[in-house]
Amino acid sequence: MTHARAEYDLVVRGRVVLPDRILDGGFVAAREGRIAAIGSPGAAPPRAARTLEVGDAYVLPGVVDTHVHTRSEPAEGITRCTEAAVAGGVTTIVDMPYDMPAAVPDLDTFEHKVRDVAAEAVCDVALYATIRKEGGLDEIPRLAGAGACAFKMATYEAHPVRFPRIPDGELLAAFRRIAATGLPAAVHCENQDIADRGVAEARRAGDLGPSAHGRSRPPVAETEAVGRVLELALDAGVHVHIVHASVPRSFDLVHRYRAEGVRATAETCIQYLVLDEGAMDRLGALAKINPPLRAPEHVAALWDYLAAGRIDQVTSDHAPWARERKGNTGDIFANASGAPGVETLLPLLYHHGVAAGRISVLDLVRLLAEGPARTFGLFPRKGALVPGGDADLVVLDPAARWTVRAARLHSACGWTPYEGMELQGRVVQTFVRGRPAYEDGAVVARPGDGRFVRPTRQRAAR
Ligand SMILES: [Zn+2]
Repeated sequence: MTHARAEYDLVVRGRVVLPDRILDGGFVAAREGRIAAIGSPGAAPPRAARTLEVGDAYVLPGVVDTHVHTRSEPAEGITRCTEAAVAGGVTTIVDMPYDMPAAVPDLDTFEHKVRDVAAEAVCDVALYATIRKEGGLDEIPRLAGAGACAFKMATYEAHPVRFPRIPDGELLAAFRRIAATGLPAAVHCENQDIADRGVAEARRAGDLGPSAHGRSRPPVAETEAVGRVLELALDAGVHVHIVHASVPRSFDLVHRYRAEGVRATAETCIQYLVLDEGAMDRLGALAKINPPLRAPEHVAALWDYLAAGRIDQVTSDHAPWARERKGNTGDIFANASGAPGVETLLPLLYHHGVAAGRISVLDLVRLLAEGPARTFGLFPRKGALVPGGDADLVVLDPAARWTVRAARLHSACGWTPYEGMELQGRVVQTFVRGRPAYEDGAVVARPGDGRFVRPTRQRAAR
């Protein structure tokens, strides 16, 4: 590779992780925010304004966390959430549309949020849109035109207006409109009737302890909804994306429909890999999430599926509720569902996956960077160390050991379900488009440094 006279802004030399191989002693060179050159081991690094020699540390593509809620909890917001992101090696988030007090189902709200991202974000941000419970489908092409990268809908009602259950007929009609945009239709899959009945039965029995949450929403509550949504997607011809799948059978169903020609993708979340239902007794409402934590045999099978390439991506479903919303010890059902996780996503998957010998480093970057970027139309600008892509880099020290402490994390919520967990592998530095965002233990990027990111492979709406 020639780079005579080339002046770069940044060169990082270490164990450079490309999509298909690792360059031990290679380098990545950035100019004007993009990756301008990738050098092989042995090649002399070119001159640059700043050169970093990171030795045995990995140089990874920035993580793309496609399941983040910056505004469900108003105390968090875009700035705090994206500060937590870069401290955890996440350089792009895809933000959910279920904002408090109002969701993002129309063009005006969406454009307002785009402006807020430009002013408040520390890392790059792509945005989900959603639809109203009924009667809002004409907004779909307008939202696609404004740069939404996907539409989020739910088969389970968390709130009648902000986070509604979309009735099946409306969901099918929405899928047909979304198919014309080429964007993914992403769905929270839980069967409302099964979950409601489960909660009502628990209440009647006075079964209100932490473990009742999981019993009220058995795996079939998820897999029935996954199957229904895939069948609707087959008819509509839409790219369907299943969010936060918690059991292996959900992925089996996705693969079954893929074999029939459906463009179907699916994510699991780090909490379904690192915690099981036993954590409810230890953590109580802090571990209450939807779908719930599952039995150990499901967790073990999900790891097998990760290693076998049957799972496209791992996300955090970062939902940083204030601790007061998790404080009802007498009634598990009275607590908010969700937990923070954007800052711990990469370290947890490295420790429990790579350091534990369950997946490779190449699997890690596929699951956290390339896979999510491809699903949401952000690849190859995001998601891989390739010339021409954005210079979003993470330096991860694979030998460093540390202990998760909420007091040192950057989310406003002040708690983590992983408190006290000892991990091997630590994020040392994060660069967003070639600029330092996190180093020496501190977030150095500022609100406004992050940018709104549009998907690139969108077709014109019909
Ligand atoms: Zn979520």
